[in-house]
Amino acid sequence: MPRPADAPSKREVAAGEHRRHELACNLDDVRRRIVRAEVDADRTPNQVKLVVVTKSWPAPDVRLLASLGVSQVAENRHQEAVGKAAELADLALVWHFIGQLQTNKAQAVAGYAHVVESVDRLRLVAALDHGAQATNRQLRCLIQVSLDDARDLAAARGGASSAEVLPIAAAIANAPALTLEGVMAVAPLGKDGAEAFDRLRVVAESVRAEHPTATTISAGMSGDLEIAVARGATHVRVGSAVLGARPPVG
Ligand SMILES: *Cc1c(COP(=O)(O)O)cnc(C)c1O
Repeated sequence: MPRPADAPSKREVAAGEHRRHELACNLDDVRRRIVRAEVDADRTPNQVKLVVVTKSWPAPDVRLLASLGVSQVAENRHQEAVGKAAELADLALVWHFIGQLQTNKAQAVAGYAHVVESVDRLRLVAALDHGAQATNRQLRCLIQVSLDDARDLAAARGGASSAEVLPIAAAIANAPALTLEGVMAVAPLGKDGAEAFDRLRVVAESVRAEHPTATTISAGMSGDLEIAVARGATHVRVGSAVLGARPPVG
C-alpha cells in the first residue's frame, strides 16, 4: 500500500520506538537517582524538580520526552531554542533558558522562555523586562551565581559574584514583568562540588531573607545531582544522563 509522502517509513517508526524506549529507561534512572538522593539527605521524596536539558538534541526528542511526562526543558542557545520552542508550541512545555545571554538577545529570549536561569548582570534585567513587557508576559528569573573563585574564570563562564547578587535581586524584584524565583549555579570544574553548593546555599538564603518567595535553588547536573540534592537544590538540570552524550553541534 502506498503511504502519504510525509508519513514515516517503517524504519523511521522503529527508530522512534527505539529512541522512546531509551529515553524512558534513562528518565527512569534519573528519577530514581533524584528520589534516592532526597531520601539519603533526609528530604521528603519527589520534591526536587527535574529540568531536562535538551540543548543540541532535535525537536522530535523533546516531543518524546513530553510524552514520557517531562514538563520542563532547558536550552542554552537562543538560535536553537527559539526554533524548537516554536515547533513544539502545542506541547505546553515550560522552557528554561540556561545559557550565557547577550543583552541584545535578551528581549527575543523573553518572547518564548518561561524561566531565564542565567540572569547575571543588571543590564540583562532591564532588557528582559523590556522584552517581557513587549510580549505581555511575566518572566520568571533566577540569578546565576558564579561559584568559581578566580574572577577571570567567572567572567568566562558567566555568573554574578556574591557581592553582585543582592543588587540584581532587587532590580528583578522591581521590574514589573519579571518575577524573582531564586538562584542557579554550575559547580566549578574539577572542584569539590559539595563545598561550592554549600556556598550557593548561603547566597540563596541571603536572597530569600530579602525576597521570601525566591526559594528556587537550581543546581546539579548529570554528574553531580546527588551532591546538589544533599546541599538543598530544589531543581536539577540534567542533560546527558537522559539524552545521551551530546552529538557534535551541527
Ligand atoms: C548542559 C548544561 C547542563 C546539563 O549538563 P549535563 O552534564 O549534560 O547533565 C546543566 N546546566 C547547564 C547550565 C548546562 O549548560
